Amino acid sequence: MHTIVTIVFFIYGLVFGSFFNVVGLRVPNGTFLAQTRSYCDTCQRTLTWKELIPVWSFLRQRGKCSQCSEKISLLYPIMELATGILAAISFYRYGWNEQTFLGLLLIALIIPITVSDLAYRKIPNKLLLFFTPFFVGLRILYPQPSLWESLMGAGLAFGLVFVIILVSNGGMGAGDLKYFTLLGFIFGPYHFLLLFFLATLYGAITGMIIMKLKGGDRKMTIPFGPYISLAAVTVFYYGETIIQWYLSLLS
Ligand SMILES: [Zn+2]
Repeated sequence: MHTIVTIVFFIYGLVFGSFFNVVGLRVPNGTFLAQTRSYCDTCQRTLTWKELIPVWSFLRQRGKCSQCSEKISLLYPIMELATGILAAISFYRYGWNEQTFLGLLLIALIIPITVSDLAYRKIPNKLLLFFTPFFVGLRILYPQPSLWESLMGAGLAFGLVFVIILVSNGGMGAGDLKYFTLLGFIFGPYHFLLLFFLATLYGAITGMIIMKLKGGDRKMTIPFGPYISLAAVTVFYYGETIIQWYLSLLS
């Protein structure tokens, strides 16, 4: 039964992932509520249901629009798959409880933000503001960590990232600051520090790989939001494991 429900979570995840792509791409430019049907960005044609099946449509059309043959961004199937996999892991690991619900809410926050930051280098205030009351409400109903720890986490995140922005002069922006602050609230101070460390580590590793591949002093072309999202996911599912492992190294 657990396996069947996990698969159901995966399938629903794919469908929601497809919706999160739309949210991430349309909220920043204000077209989210303006047009309800999905359309091709190039030829503006409204897509049929056959072209809207998550991942499958992309593979069947070999990554191209079936009318104008314009390439469809790999971002779509990747984010659909990521949402499906994360939703499935949430249920698989935590079953029917608040932690799964928190996981799903977290996925609903990070996937559209990642899409938006990759597409426009923007972390929309609207998304952060939309989700904040849900996380605050959930924390009051389910104080794990406590509301007090959540507020400390948010304060720590804001202070730390604010100082880094002042000192580093670029690299991170106001969007990253607000995103980190909300995650500080969600994770509390200890897990937030791990999250922050992992985000910068992922960014540094990717930066080094890009420098190796493209050579020399090529400026970082990837925004920071996706690394924050990846770190948030890592800490949500494996934070405790990583901390235990680290402590065992010290003892
Ligand atoms: Zn087209």
